[in-house]
Amino acid sequence: MRYISTRGDTPPLSFSDAVLTGLAPDGGLLLPESIPDFSSRQADLAGMRYSSLAVEIFSAYIDDIPKQDLKELVRAAYETFDAPDVAPISALGERYVLELFHGPTLAFKDVALQLLGKLFGYVLERRGGQLNILAATSGDTGSAAIAGVRGLNNVNIHVLFPDGRVSPLQELQMTTVPDENVHCYAVRGSFDDCQRLIKSAFEDLELKDRLHLGAVNSVNWARVLAQTVYYAYASLRLGALGPVSFTVPTGNFGNIFAAYLARRMGFPVDRLIVASNANNILPVYFTSGAYRRGDVHHTVAPAMDIQVASNFERYLYYRLGCDPRALKQAMKQFADSGTVDVPGEAAEPEMMAAIAVDDDEIRRTIDRIWRHYGYLLDPHTAIAVAASERFDCAGPMVCVATAHPAKFPETVDAAVGQPLARHPSLDALKGKPVRRGVLDANLTDVVGAMEAAP
Ligand SMILES: *Cc1c(COP(=O)(O)O)cnc(C)c1O
Repeated sequence: MRYISTRGDTPPLSFSDAVLTGLAPDGGLLLPESIPDFSSRQADLAGMRYSSLAVEIFSAYIDDIPKQDLKELVRAAYETFDAPDVAPISALGERYVLELFHGPTLAFKDVALQLLGKLFGYVLERRGGQLNILAATSGDTGSAAIAGVRGLNNVNIHVLFPDGRVSPLQELQMTTVPDENVHCYAVRGSFDDCQRLIKSAFEDLELKDRLHLGAVNSVNWARVLAQTVYYAYASLRLGALGPVSFTVPTGNFGNIFAAYLARRMGFPVDRLIVASNANNILPVYFTSGAYRRGDVHHTVAPAMDIQVASNFERYLYYRLGCDPRALKQAMKQFADSGTVDVPGEAAEPEMMAAIAVDDDEIRRTIDRIWRHYGYLLDPHTAIAVAASERFDCAGPMVCVATAHPAKFPETVDAAVGQPLARHPSLDALKGKPVRRGVLDANLTDVVGAMEAAP
């Protein structure tokens, strides 16, 4: 299987090259040349354990890593999880919750980043060479990326976060990691400043080459691929009850895009509901066909405080008939004017629909679900549960749980009126030694810090 760019100006890449490259050199996102079809294999896949299913799916997409090695990479990636089946399913009244927060940093990003770290280590060991990962975070991505690559001897990771603007717990999850290849910097500026710094570093091709820069954000194809597994797994587990619908708390569109792919791979997936917070660019798009940029609103579900979803380009590519020229035109129109219209999108709500949930409803949902079921939701998962209640589906409805409630104790405890949101791994962070640098928001200082790192 080879990987092509949505923008059509990159020669096809192998899987390993796609993983190391991240964003395509033409500025597009990488996708497989074709989507493997699993529809005739459902009977043998249905009884498989999570890790075996993962190996079956990965080997249809990866032909430059032997299956035996894939098996070992998957085993190593998921041995850090505290649930043997990686993504357990709980019943919540008539609905289901797919718990993706059993990894080392308690957010769904671990499912993909644990695997990505193992892939980086494996590919670099065989080829030789080093990677300097540069990432910006407003919370969950930084700690999950660090947990994925800590201790690798051919990878250094440098994480930028806005000084004083990530939650104290999330900062400790990053800055208490003792491994020498981990470097965290509080940047005197906003999250947007951090992202701008990363973007200008990656756009400087001479710098990118000299520092061997690598990316771990959700444009990396391996992250999407890893995420398709839990949709396949859940749809096969519940598929006897009818085609399975998913409601996904959405920010950069990476998680729900994996669900869309699982549907196209022939797994028994029915409707997909995009659940947004007050940043409602996607709900507006899915009801009107107009994709229109707005200002970022800060909410109690901060991992979704995003206006322009980077993975949306992959979805748009398929919507526009896999035509890179039409896609490029749409992206240019969006970049120039902040708006693009996609004819026909709003006409297909039976496949994908979207809804926005505000902070008040998030808090009420956390409280209500706790009182009815004794089940504690994090604010992001609460958005999915609230959104799912507005839709009727013939088969099972699965709400995707993207974080453990203990990651957001202020909001969760206030919503239920008691201090319930705890997790031993987060309690254990308090009092540990902290390592972090402080930088001004300019590229010279960031590059200087990266070059000075051991
Ligand atoms: C990253 C994140 C999301 C958003 O996922 P996308 O793939 O960016 O749509 C939702 N919830 C939590 C807790 C997250 O960390």
